[in-house]
Amino acid sequence: MELRKSVEIIGCLPASSRALVGGLYWSGMPEEAGGGRKAMNIISLGAGVQSTTMLLMAAHGEITPKPDYAIFADTGWEPKKVYQHLEWLKKEAAKFGIKVIVTQEKNIKDDLLFAINSESKTGKAGFTNLPFHLINKDGTRGMAKRQCTAEYKIRPIQKKIRELLGYKPRQRIKEKVTLWMGISTDEIQRVKPSREKWIEHRWPLIEKRMNRLDCLSWMERKGYPQPPKSSCVGCPFHNDALWLDMKLNDKEAWEEAVEMDRAIKKLHRLKGKPYLHGSCQPLDEVYLHENQITIDLFDNECEGMCGV
Ligand code: SF4
Repeated sequence: MELRKSVEIIGCLPASSRALVGGLYWSGMPEEAGGGRKAMNIISLGAGVQSTTMLLMAAHGEITPKPDYAIFADTGWEPKKVYQHLEWLKKEAAKFGIKVIVTQEKNIKDDLLFAINSESKTGKAGFTNLPFHLINKDGTRGMAKRQCTAEYKIRPIQKKIRELLGYKPRQRIKEKVTLWMGISTDEIQRVKPSREKWIEHRWPLIEKRMNRLDCLSWMERKGYPQPPKSSCVGCPFHNDALWLDMKLNDKEAWEEAVEMDRAIKKLHRLKGKPYLHGSCQPLDEVYLHENQITIDLFDNECEGMCGV
């Protein structure tokens, strides 16, 4: 693989990302896998702004080679508009010969409710943590460890790739899989290497030096709709703008989130009292204002770039 350094961009990166990216900007086709076996290119699709743009740019031949598949791992708890966008995207990608695969192993909302109900009866059910905001027993604030991205996003995508390659679980994979991640230059801190030897991450939007606004402009120039923000309805990483938009425009999702915010108080095994909103107030009591400045902990998509 031919690599070239981009001192100009790397110099602007935080030290942590600089060490990783280290000038890894693709300048051509990924190398072929050894043994005459074809290398596979797969898009990790979150169905938000960045990965949608990346997929459609590849469809238009602006990012090469043409990916073999785009895989969306469904947590089962996305807002309706994300599923609608995904349906549109599947059809649009199909026009260019790219198949979008939706994979779902479990349902994060059902699993959470099951854990809540089991815990209230037995006090010891295990469950996969969402990054809840916590008020600890000594009154300090904290955050629960984020395990959901690995469980509901990363692993299902890896499992699907194994299936596509014809491998069984834990069988050694011989092919080289390049997994394209939809990270733009404004969220470079999310660039992380793959933990699997058979998967290599690639960041085409970084190569193109595109930020989120560039993605939106590209979509607009092509006459495509603006993708919604993709994340679970009750994701504790939502910022106020997203909560407010949900409250005003998606009553069903808002009510589900409010109900879940109440229900998670029964999760006694956490170190503190859990909340979905960063202020650690009941969600339906939070003053949400569109001009309120809040830190967006989540960036734009949940597609396997958390630090798990
Ligand atoms: S969107 Fe939020 S809650 Fe859903 S899997 Fe990602 S981090 Fe977890």
